[in-house]
Amino acid sequence: MGDRYANFANSGVGRGVVKRLGLPDPPRLRRYRPGDPLTPGPVLLGGTAGRLAGPVGKLLEAAGVPVVETAEEGARLGALVFDATGITGSAGLRALYDYFHPVARSLVPSGRVIVLGTPPAAAANPREATAQRALEGLTRSIGKEFGRGITSQLVYVAPGGEEAVESTLRFLLSGRSAYVSGQVVEIGAGRAPAPADWDRPLAGKTALVTGAARGIGAAIARVLARDGADVIALDVPAAGDALAGVANDVRGRAVQLDLTAPDAPTRLAGHLSGLDILVHNAGITRDKTIARMDESRWDSVLDVNLSSQERINDLLLERGIIKAGGRLIGVASIAGIAGNRGQTNYATSKAGVIGLVRSMAPVLAGQGITINAVAPGFIETAMTARMPMFLREAGRRMNSMSQGGLPVDVAETISWFASPGSATVTGNVVRVCGQSLLGA
Ligand code: NAD
Repeated sequence: MGDRYANFANSGVGRGVVKRLGLPDPPRLRRYRPGDPLTPGPVLLGGTAGRLAGPVGKLLEAAGVPVVETAEEGARLGALVFDATGITGSAGLRALYDYFHPVARSLVPSGRVIVLGTPPAAAANPREATAQRALEGLTRSIGKEFGRGITSQLVYVAPGGEEAVESTLRFLLSGRSAYVSGQVVEIGAGRAPAPADWDRPLAGKTALVTGAARGIGAAIARVLARDGADVIALDVPAAGDALAGVANDVRGRAVQLDLTAPDAPTRLAGHLSGLDILVHNAGITRDKTIARMDESRWDSVLDVNLSSQERINDLLLERGIIKAGGRLIGVASIAGIAGNRGQTNYATSKAGVIGLVRSMAPVLAGQGITINAVAPGFIETAMTARMPMFLREAGRRMNSMSQGGLPVDVAETISWFASPGSATVTGNVVRVCGQSLLGA
C-alpha cells in the first residue's frame, strides 16, 4: 500500500526527474493539524454587491483570518472568496472574470477558491437562476486549472441562511478539505449554533461508526474522537481484535455485530440510549460483470451497503434513539455517480445511498435531523491496494490532485457534516475524490 510514486516525486531527486520528464507532479497537500491557522495566507474577499460578503468578512475577521479587498502585484494569497449572490443575469457574470483574471496566479500551494451563490431554485426569476447555475462551470474549471493542491468549490446559500455559513467555510478553507474539490455544497435557510470550541466541535456528542475496524471507518472513528465525540465503533465479530484496537485508541466502546443479521437493528438499539451522530460506513464489494454475477453477490452487496442502513435508520428513528439535532451520514462512492464496469451491484447500492439522502432530508428536516453523504473517489486503503496495477495507477492520477486521497480526508468531511454548526447542511452528497475525472 502507499503511493510510492508521489513519495518519489516529492523527494529531492524525484522533483528534478519529474520536472525534466514532464511527469505528473502530485503536490503535498495541506492537511489539518489542530491549532493551524484556517488559511495559509490572507483571503481576498470580492463581489461586495451580494448579501454574503458582509457576514462572511465579519466571521473571517472574528476567526483571526486576515481579509483584504484588493491584492497588490505579487501578493501571496491563501484564499479567493467571491460573493456572486449579487449577480442577477448573464451579463453580470463578467464580474467573475474581472475578479479572478488578475489574481489567478496569486494563490499559495493548497490555497482555496470559494464562490458563494444563491441556489438556482431559490432565485427570484429565470435570468437570475441561469446566472447562478453558470457559477458551477467556473468553479469546476478553476479546480482543474490551478493545480498545486488548490481546491475550488461553489457554495449555494439559501436566502435566510447567511448566518449559518461558518462551519462550511471553515471546513472548505482549512486543511480538512485537502482532497475535496470541484464540489457544489448547498446550505439551507436557518441558523446553526456555533460550537464553543471550533477545534472540538463534537464535544458532548455520541457517535456510532459502522465498519470501524479498519480503513476509512477507523479514520472516521479517530477524527470524530479528536473533534470531541464519544465514539462507539462497530464491526463484524470476525474483526473483533482490530475493532478493539480502534475503540481503545479513541477511548470509545466496541460493538461486534453483523449489520445484515435480521435482529441487528434491535440488538443495536439495545446498546444505545441516545445517539447524535450515525455514520453508515460499512460496505463491501463483490465485483463481476452482471452477466457473470451470481445472485449472492448481488444480494450481499445491496444488503450491507443499502438495505441494512434503511432498517437501522427506521428502527432508531422510530424509537427516538436518534436525538433531535441528530446527524445521519452515509458513505456512497463515485461509482454510484458514474457507474463502474464490474460493479453493477456496488454502484446500485451506492446510488441508492444518494437516493436515501435526497429522499430522507425533507422528511427529517422537521426534527432538526440532517442527512448527508460523502462519495469517496480513490482512497488509499486495503480495498484499493487490491486493485489491478493499471486501474490503481489510473485512479490515483486521474484527478486534479494527481494522487489518491487518504482515509482521513473522508473522515474530515464527515466530521464537518456532523458539526452542530452544520445544522442547515442537509441533503448534500459531497465527493471526496480530488476532483476525479470519473463521476463528475
Ligand atoms: P474496508 O473493507 O477496509 O472496511 C469496511 C469495513 O466494514 C470492514 O472492517 C468490514 O468488516 C466492515 N463490514 C463489512 N460488512 C459488515 C457487516 N455486515 N456488518 C458490520 N461491518 C461490516 O473498506 P474501506 O475502503 O475502508 O471502505 C469504507 C467505505 O467507503 C465502504 O462503504 C466503501 O464502499 C466506501 N468507499 C471506499 C473507497 C476506497 O477507495 N477505499 C471508495 C469509495 C467508497
